[in-house]
Amino acid sequence: MSRAHMLSRFLASDPAWNGRFFTGVLTTGVYCLPSCRARKPRAENIRFFPSCDAARSAGLRPCLKCHPDDFARGADPVLESIEALVAEVRADPGRFRDAGSVVRRSGFGTTRCFELFRQHYHATPADLLLRAKVDAATRLLVGCDSPLADVALSAGFESLSVFHEHFRSHNGMTPTAYRGLRSEVAFAVDLPTGYPLPHLLRTLGRDPQSVTERLAGAFYETAAKLDGVPALMRIHFARGRAEVSLGGAAAAGPSQRIAAHRLVAGLLGLDQDAAAFARLARRLGVARLVSGRAGLRLSRTPGVWDGLLWSIIGQQINFSFACLLKRRLVENTGTPLPGGLFSLPAPAAVARLEPSDLRPWQYSRQKAEYLVGAARLVAEGKLDLAALPSMSATRAERTLLAVRGLGPWSVNYLMMRSLGFADCVPIGDTGVTSGLQALFRLEERPDSDATRRLMSVFSPHRSLATAHLWQINRPPP
Ligand SMILES: [Zn+2]
Repeated sequence: MSRAHMLSRFLASDPAWNGRFFTGVLTTGVYCLPSCRARKPRAENIRFFPSCDAARSAGLRPCLKCHPDDFARGADPVLESIEALVAEVRADPGRFRDAGSVVRRSGFGTTRCFELFRQHYHATPADLLLRAKVDAATRLLVGCDSPLADVALSAGFESLSVFHEHFRSHNGMTPTAYRGLRSEVAFAVDLPTGYPLPHLLRTLGRDPQSVTERLAGAFYETAAKLDGVPALMRIHFARGRAEVSLGGAAAAGPSQRIAAHRLVAGLLGLDQDAAAFARLARRLGVARLVSGRAGLRLSRTPGVWDGLLWSIIGQQINFSFACLLKRRLVENTGTPLPGGLFSLPAPAAVARLEPSDLRPWQYSRQKAEYLVGAARLVAEGKLDLAALPSMSATRAERTLLAVRGLGPWSVNYLMMRSLGFADCVPIGDTGVTSGLQALFRLEERPDSDATRRLMSVFSPHRSLATAHLWQINRPPP
């Protein structure tokens, strides 16, 4: 890492470089994290250190604003207290009447608490509480036979009608229909009003030669792992709904249908606030960003492992070559299903490969090492993919950045597409930079600092902004 590079990261307060180096300021005698928000010193007074120890040996003391020693130790008391509070909210949302009671329980002032929720969960306390209530209700509906009114009350909804409204918008079906997943073989998920289905279909059909999914008109088939069981999922988009059925009936029990519903809700992006983003775009005077697709959502990957594989395979190469590499991996190591599709290889299957095994499939040496290395971390239990979706965004980002082969682009891509965080920017993404160039009529493509600056106006909806920027230079489907 060159001095110029470290200097530019420090001046940009880039959190992606925290822990990789520390900055010291000779005039003030203080050392900091690259992300420190304190006033930036003059460049000639800045020195760089590989560790806190090195900075201390040079006679410097830790900054009281960014707490570099806490970061180096892995301790972050403020983050930990917010994470503990969120765990409490999710475990028993019925105990919290409203966002105000979450704020009071946090011990922080209202403004600070909102800031912390936005920074660490990309959500307001109210949104996070509502999501927790809806999730608690889904668990109760299939886990017990209590009447709906009791379910609504235990989950923390003040009335049955409020419960119905939120349950439907998050899950695309009524609470009664959701309970029916225990016994009905097929089910349907309602698309939100104004849902731009052609955009979703274009995304689903983007690799016509894919061996994991297939789109024909309004029929979509995909090989999925449902509660650990490889299954074939069929979706027919018709009458404003996604009608879902599962192949391999023997394998498809209630828990597979519940997993399939979750997968479809994620595929449709039902939990994303498309309307709020469209309002923001109009308020910012860039209505053209959402024009013709105001209801666009970011389609969630079927699982975190899918996203991880794709983010490593897809980095630094063009889309069709990435599709080819994925096909070769899946055909050689995935599980064949009836009908010709394959389900993705499990992490253990990829972990068993040697990087050299991937070379004949046209993987670069580095990509092969990254892929096998990441699969081994998962297979050996050192990277817990199942734990990531409930982590704070901050912790998920730190966890993923520690994986060799994942940089700021892939980490943000994963956080956005596999973990569902609302305020991410895959820095360095060519679709984002060329989208920003078109939207703001810039002379040239923005570099990573300019991208950060331009994207900041879309906070806390930067993931949806990214989804729209990916579309802006493409003809409507
Ligand atoms: Zn500092």
